[in-house]
Amino acid sequence: MDYMNIAEVKKMFTCVADEVIAKEQMLTEIDNIIGDGDHGIGMAIGFRAIKEALPNMQVQSINELFKEIGMTMLDAMGGASGVIFGTMFISGFGVVPKRKYLDIDNLSKMMKKSLENIKQRGKAEIGDKTMIDSYEPAVSALLKSAECGKSLLEGINAAKAASLAGMEMTKTYEAKKGRAESYGQKSIGLPDPGAVSVTIIFSAMFEFLQSQQKLKEEKV
Ligand code: ADP
Ligand code: MG
Repeated sequence: MDYMNIAEVKKMFTCVADEVIAKEQMLTEIDNIIGDGDHGIGMAIGFRAIKEALPNMQVQSINELFKEIGMTMLDAMGGASGVIFGTMFISGFGVVPKRKYLDIDNLSKMMKKSLENIKQRGKAEIGDKTMIDSYEPAVSALLKSAECGKSLLEGINAAKAASLAGMEMTKTYEAKKGRAESYGQKSIGLPDPGAVSVTIIFSAMFEFLQSQQKLKEEKV
């Protein structure tokens, strides 16, 4: 799988949404212990809104589609993660030419920009026990894959693995940003909920691409 058209990307996000919604309770359980317990609820609200809006999104480019997805999250979710996860999809809009397909090149560039924007706004760095701990390594893996001429499937696979490793690291950190900050030492041993959400997103993207790849191979 080297690229996806707009319809395929829409389908992918429907599958990503299903995965996030399915993990609502698990995300909420973690946030219950180290945060205010609303992360799963927020993410599920955001992705339910995306699922509902996707069929009606009349977009002419991947850039617009990502922006619409991010805006939908921002509008529906509120709270820190509404801004953070909304930004993940909104910020890349202008950094690449408007295209009707998603490939490793535009995906990595859009996500690089959104990582920069999230860090600029939230001032979190690696080690602060936030979604940055899994998003930053995932974006680096995507960029590296693009540089080395890997396919979209390979790049997303690498991003997924990097996000999981980063999320695992958050278990060893003390929270320093956001509401979980006040839980300090108590947060050690548990992953950051936002970092877990990032892994769910990349894992679901990978699974979708992999299933499409299999379909393609079966057809030949
Ligand atoms: P809220 O903090 O408004 O309750 P959520 O519980 O939905 O929002 O989301 C919490 C998640 O947001 C955290 O697990 C963390 O990953 C992420 N987060 C919080 N503050 C920051 C920040 N400054 N930068 C990046 N991510 C952050
Ligand atoms: Mg919360």
